[in-house]
Amino acid sequence: MIVKSARSNNIRVFFVGGIVRDNILGYKTSDIDILINGSAIEFAKKLPQEIKVKSIHPDFDTVKLLYKNEIIDIASSRTEHYPFSGCLPVVQKIGVPIEEDVKRRDFTINSIYCELYIINNKLSYKLIDLVEGIKDINSKTLRVLHDKSYIDDPTRILRGVEFAFRFNFDFSQHDKTLIENYLSSPIRTNMSVDRVLSVFSKIFKNKPHKEIFKKVILNKYYKILFDDVQNIDFNLVDNVLDLFSDEEFKTDDFYISLLKNQEFEILQYNSKKELFYNMKNMKKAVLACYYYKTQDKNVLWFVKNKDFKFLITGDDLINLGFKQGKIFSQIFEKLFDAKISNPQSFISKENEIDWVKNNFKS
Ligand code: ATP
Repeated sequence: MIVKSARSNNIRVFFVGGIVRDNILGYKTSDIDILINGSAIEFAKKLPQEIKVKSIHPDFDTVKLLYKNEIIDIASSRTEHYPFSGCLPVVQKIGVPIEEDVKRRDFTINSIYCELYIINNKLSYKLIDLVEGIKDINSKTLRVLHDKSYIDDPTRILRGVEFAFRFNFDFSQHDKTLIENYLSSPIRTNMSVDRVLSVFSKIFKNKPHKEIFKKVILNKYYKILFDDVQNIDFNLVDNVLDLFSDEEFKTDDFYISLLKNQEFEILQYNSKKELFYNMKNMKKAVLACYYYKTQDKNVLWFVKNKDFKFLITGDDLINLGFKQGKIFSQIFEKLFDAKISNPQSFISKENEIDWVKNNFKS
């Protein structure tokens, strides 16, 4: 329906980027990204009523549509430029021909257009490959479109690393030289740090995150953001990952904390209970990084006891005749120690109530 509506308004419609690449490679893609050679916002105004506009994004002239429970992103063909290395791209012109749109893209493999038509009431398509992307897919090669590409947007280095792992591709020899040149004198003055961190985050969410992290360190890709990271002890990284393997754990946050070289002081505490709740309130990834940095043995203790919980509440103490006040925290502190050192004696709530009765007078 979108294609029909566009063609009747003399607008060309394309798939481009990941969806075309994945299709040629034989992988499934979930995103439906459509590009039109015109303004997506203007186009959305002419769509039939069955297609709902979910949101409009004037910065890049894109719209999100909802049709038959499916989200469809429509982007406008456009030219962009980077006034400074690493900054966000600035849109120059909307509605340009694809021969112009292609120039803003990262790799040749992500720059293949698939034009959609309706012929005899049937959807049909034609591949338009302006940059030999298909040849690079076949030879498993990552190649940017011009020599300034990594300087304009160094996140492309990280996107490339992720594609290399995901598809078992490699950078072309020339790209390797371009990347080396960039990393020998990275320009960070106008760098959008958040953007770089979000691409780091995306690549560390992928499997095999450990190998990707190693590659980031060994090839010094971190230089996009940081001059140097402290020597990374990969065995220790493995130990930490093993220790937290059962946890709901954001590996990307962990690796980024390591790259940021976040400093930690050994946690001070007045009671084991205080320490326990301090650690429980820390994000798992931060706790993992804390352990990597400090080797504080309390983390091992915490991980062993992380499922600890009290079965009684303050209301139970009130029912036992205690008055709310300092005594409450004393009871919970002592009960905590008793339970942690002897968990098999505290199977039920009654066990805890009996323990309170035996150890405190109301
Ligand atoms: P994925 O499978 O990870 O979603 P993708 O290539 O579809 O891969 P997107 O981030 O959705 O990734 O980007 C869609 C398209 O937009 C890319 O294929 C590429 O053509 C272009 N693109 C995305 N990021 C950049 C960038 N940093 N520089 C240039 N072009 C980009």
